[in-house]
Amino acid sequence: MASGKAMDWREGLDAGDLSSESLVLAAFDRIRDLDGTLHAILAVDEPRSIALAREADRRIRSGERTPVLGLPIILKDNLHWSGLPMTCGSRVLEGYVAPYDATVVRRLIQAGAVPIAKANLDEFAMGSSGEYSAFASARNPWDTSRVPGGSSSGSVVAVAAGYAPLALGSDTGGSVRLPASFCNATALRPTYGILSRYGLTAMASSLDQVGPIATTAADLALAFSVMAGVDPLDSTSMDLPGVERLANLRPLDLNGLRIGLPREYFGDGLEPGVRTLLDAALQVFESQGAKLVEVDLPHTPYAIDTYYLLCTSEVSSNLSRFDGVRYGLREPSAEGGLPEMIARTRDAGLGDEVKRRILLGTFCLSKGYYDAFYMKALKARALIAADFHAAFAEADILASPVSPGTAFPFGDKTDDPMSMYLADVFTVPTALAGLPCLSMPAGFSGGLPAGIQLIGPALSDVRLLEAAHAFQSLTRHHLETPTLSA
Ligand code: GLN
Repeated sequence: MASGKAMDWREGLDAGDLSSESLVLAAFDRIRDLDGTLHAILAVDEPRSIALAREADRRIRSGERTPVLGLPIILKDNLHWSGLPMTCGSRVLEGYVAPYDATVVRRLIQAGAVPIAKANLDEFAMGSSGEYSAFASARNPWDTSRVPGGSSSGSVVAVAAGYAPLALGSDTGGSVRLPASFCNATALRPTYGILSRYGLTAMASSLDQVGPIATTAADLALAFSVMAGVDPLDSTSMDLPGVERLANLRPLDLNGLRIGLPREYFGDGLEPGVRTLLDAALQVFESQGAKLVEVDLPHTPYAIDTYYLLCTSEVSSNLSRFDGVRYGLREPSAEGGLPEMIARTRDAGLGDEVKRRILLGTFCLSKGYYDAFYMKALKARALIAADFHAAFAEADILASPVSPGTAFPFGDKTDDPMSMYLADVFTVPTALAGLPCLSMPAGFSGGLPAGIQLIGPALSDVRLLEAAHAFQSLTRHHLETPTLSA
């Protein structure tokens, strides 16, 4: 395998120099070699993926071209891929087999992409480190004593370790951007509604978005182009303006681009090493004629509280379906009663973080507390969104850190949920506001990668990718790969 870049593989496949089958077989070899250490993968169905690859090769030979035809892709295990187990990283779904394809998965397969594996994650996508998976903690390929970031830990590790050029994760409050920053990948959280949520297991429905992960923005655009747009099965879905520019992404002309730097995101909490990288990255934009302007997002201090009130409220409702009746695990009750069976199943099947959120959310939504917490959080969410709206009067895009630091060691934050939640301080505000944002490699601090986040106004996803592509045409950070041995 020459490179981990989807664009290079795309060209190789179209020219007949590569076959999808050979790429898929090589991916399985790599998974066999490395995944005993990295724990990124939860399930594969090799015969099925090989059959899909052969079909893609046949389509290529017959002259068909699509942006993803023949490209291997890895799916976070909260996305339905019909016929494969789907666990969401939870014991409560052990034994559950997806009966249908998520819309994004169906669109990828129709366009000829080849899913090759289901990827590890924090249980039900709740977490920032990958450590809350009920099965195993995925490892950071740059330093296996450190977390890869979460919750799309396995999807991002799979790309960073070169299993596949593309992966899908989900981002409720930062779950593709944070691991991308920790593992040196590029990941997009689209404008809320651009990617259908049908078949993505709901965590917090007003925040959840599917997010593609790749080595470069141009590669992301390939997968994004075939997935984006209205889906009758998701009433919040909508079409993406400029989608036709994705298949052959051009770099944005940075001359005169106003890049807003939110004052609140560059404060004391930021690790100095990360700050240095960001300054260097911003100089790259400036060298092309971009103008840096400071902007204010004054309600930033309320974002984490707002997010965890709304997210847990929605979690408490969405996860009520895991009751031992309909899906996966069932713990029989001693007395034979239904309430006891449900309680025992949920007690045995759900992990501590999931239980913590269900309890918190149930509290927020309960009579007497609803106005004080849930309603107040909704109002704060509107103010946070209004901050961004005002900032975009002064800037075309915003740039910021993805996280205050680089990947942390295992166990560093598991005893202190608040400090885990704070890893997302720069990623939850955009999720609350429904804005497109991406994380891309900005360099290394102490041998560990860190990303820069770009944020755009709603529906500017294509332009954001073009801006990232311009940066990546001028830098090489995203091409650095970890040294891995079996
Ligand atoms: N880390 C955040 C949380 O635990 C975000 C998770 C996500 O985006 N899925 O809620």
